[in-house]
Amino acid sequence: MKIAAFVPTPCIDRYIRVSSQPSAGAKVVGRLEGDWPGGVAANFAVAAARLGAAVHAFGWAGTDSASELCLASLRSERVGTRLISIRAGTPVYGTTVLLNDDGERSIIHFPATGTVTADPRWRGALGRLAPDVCYFSFWGEVAAELAEPARRRWRLVATTVESTAAASSDFDWTSLQDVDFVFLNDEAASALGWSAARPECAPANWARGPRVVVVTQGAAGSRYFSSRDGVTAQAPGFDVRPVDTTGAGDAFAAAFCVHWLAGFRAAPLLARANAAGALATQALGPRTGFASRQAIEELVASARIGGEAVV
Ligand code: ADP
Repeated sequence: MKIAAFVPTPCIDRYIRVSSQPSAGAKVVGRLEGDWPGGVAANFAVAAARLGAAVHAFGWAGTDSASELCLASLRSERVGTRLISIRAGTPVYGTTVLLNDDGERSIIHFPATGTVTADPRWRGALGRLAPDVCYFSFWGEVAAELAEPARRRWRLVATTVESTAAASSDFDWTSLQDVDFVFLNDEAASALGWSAARPECAPANWARGPRVVVVTQGAAGSRYFSSRDGVTAQAPGFDVRPVDTTGAGDAFAAAFCVHWLAGFRAAPLLARANAAGALATQALGPRTGFASRQAIEELVASARIGGEAVV
């Protein structure tokens, strides 16, 4: 199975261990844990590669040491980088993750400045690659431009809508109506007006929703609504004690795509994606806990909820 992931810019996560999460006016003690390559799309690419998919990243990187670190980490995970275009001065996205011993985290984003444009060579290259899934970590002009003409050649287009984008009044929800998988966490879903009583999650101006709207609910698990057949599915989360939840949503999305391509649907599919998300929370760093398919199967097989096998 072939997966392409749009990695718009390199991203570095700086981890700081804090004695407690600071509230306004508070002083807390911090210790630098390290700087790790991260970012939603690059995390997704690595998670999918660990699940056995042939993954190709496309996007931009610079010539600075942060860009080189990000590219090297993708290559070390067998993610193809020949479609990442190198342009000196490409801004690096930064995040600072404040983590305390209870596994709680706060994240400060330092967005890369400037507009992301498409490199003209990507369109042809993606057409030749013809990935089974093409994943965009955010939905914007580049995603819409690349997904539209190539849709017939790629089997599926997937994207994540982050809560900040979901809450923005100028986010164009209608442009998502032809996307196959839209991933939202609870916060993004509630910005969109989703509730358990309204699982289709479709804004009023969607003529027809994306093929599948997937809502992740942290420790509670996940659910999805399929607009093609009206099916809703849900699966509870796994009972784990999180060390660091950074990257859980990315691991979940990658596992959802890989297991969908492998033929899983409904609760068995969500259980495997939940297992990938739960395992991702078990280690420090955005990608350290990303699992193999075997580790996911072992967790699914071992889990019993209310005395019943999960799937
Ligand atoms: P995001 O990281 O995008 O905010 P979530 O926090 O909803 O997304 O996490 C994605 C998935 O990872 C969840 O649907 C769940 O399956 C799994 N997960 C996340 N946090 C936990 C947790 N504390 N315990 C068990 N599973 C978790």
